[in-house]
Amino acid sequence: MINALRGMKDIMHTKGELYEKIINTAQNVAKNYGYTLIKTPHLEQTTLFKRSVGESSDIVGKEMYQFIDKGENDVCLRPEGTAGVVRAFIEAKLDKAGGVYKYFYHGSMFRYERPQKGRLREFHQFGVECFGEADVKEDASVILMLNEILNKLNIKTTLKINSLGDASSMASYRKKLINFLNDHDDKICPDCKRRKELNPIRVLDCKVDSCQEIYKNAPIMSDSLSDEAKNDFNKLQEILNASGVSYEIDTKLVRGLDYYCKTAFEFVSDEIGSQSAVAGGGRYDRLVEYLGGRASYGVGFAMGVDRIMEILDSRQNECERDGIYVCALDEENVDFVFSLATKLRQNFKTNISYKAKKLQKHLNDADKANAKIFLCVGENERKNGEIFYKNLQNKDEKTINLSEVEKILG
Ligand code: ATP
Ligand code: MG
Repeated sequence: MINALRGMKDIMHTKGELYEKIINTAQNVAKNYGYTLIKTPHLEQTTLFKRSVGESSDIVGKEMYQFIDKGENDVCLRPEGTAGVVRAFIEAKLDKAGGVYKYFYHGSMFRYERPQKGRLREFHQFGVECFGEADVKEDASVILMLNEILNKLNIKTTLKINSLGDASSMASYRKKLINFLNDHDDKICPDCKRRKELNPIRVLDCKVDSCQEIYKNAPIMSDSLSDEAKNDFNKLQEILNASGVSYEIDTKLVRGLDYYCKTAFEFVSDEIGSQSAVAGGGRYDRLVEYLGGRASYGVGFAMGVDRIMEILDSRQNECERDGIYVCALDEENVDFVFSLATKLRQNFKTNISYKAKKLQKHLNDADKANAKIFLCVGENERKNGEIFYKNLQNKDEKTINLSEVEKILG
């Protein structure tokens, strides 16, 4: 037997329905916020991710699906969505044109991580990116958008926010942090030693307990914020308060990458064990320039679709009954049922059985198909121009006239 690769999963049955529900919900909300679909290739030049995600990140350091293709090109399966969208934005010369551009995307991302619950090698993200908007109201909008998506999906989360300051605040904070790290050099883990050289702020994100113990006393970013960054962070909080969205300030929350600035945020669930981050985002005003474009503002988020699917799948009855199941008790009525199904399919999701079976067998099949309405024709019903109706959700059942079928289905 040929199996799927480790850390790569098929999405089917209830998971397939949940996947669709998550994407549909997210894109409907994103469209209402003025965002439009962008699709970029799964495969890009490796340099794109090295330059954008950054050499200091775990993604570039350890997790890339990188290979040389038949044309000797160094390529990489995308580990995240932002880099490709920024590349597309620059390639379309929108950075030079000016103005505000808003995109949403969804699809597969690839990271060579150790597979475990909530951590796959091919996983799925829904994300948004806004270019050209300096106003912190857009930072607030993307947070409100994500909050609305999660609410609509009934996912309970905690929102954590932080400000990483702008370029000037970051420079002075870096100095303070490096001094602190030099004082504790003998106690921090090897990964943090590497981070200290490449991008010190990433140490705050370290998963090692003994490091976190040390960083409790580390200088915090909020003490180094410039006036502008401080004002924006206050304004962001004002908007969240006014919108009734609760949040926690987490001074250790870093998106870790060089290009992030000012707003950083994460939504964390307490329903899914240790891999609890369901979405994260922030402002990246330097990324476009970093990738060779004209300096343009940027803000966005990425949401982990698989972790949300896990949460919804672990709850019962999440996949509500839906659609009709039509069937016949006798062979002579199957053709009639077929034409009925064809008519119903113009307006309703309709499953049909091509085989005549006993009532209980049909009911079992309808249950398996997760249908809501069961319609069955037997000899007597056919003679009287009637059909047997059962609502499989509230168990209501009756024999109705054929002319009433569409009315009762609403
Ligand atoms: P983590 O700290 O869990 O590794 P991350 O910071 O690497 O997450 P991001 O790059 O911010 O994650 O990606 C956004 C979201 O994508 C995460 O919040 C998570 O829900 C999801 N995600 C990231 N990596 C994986 C993975 N390997 N498998 C499944 N989902 C993932
Ligand atoms: Mg990760």
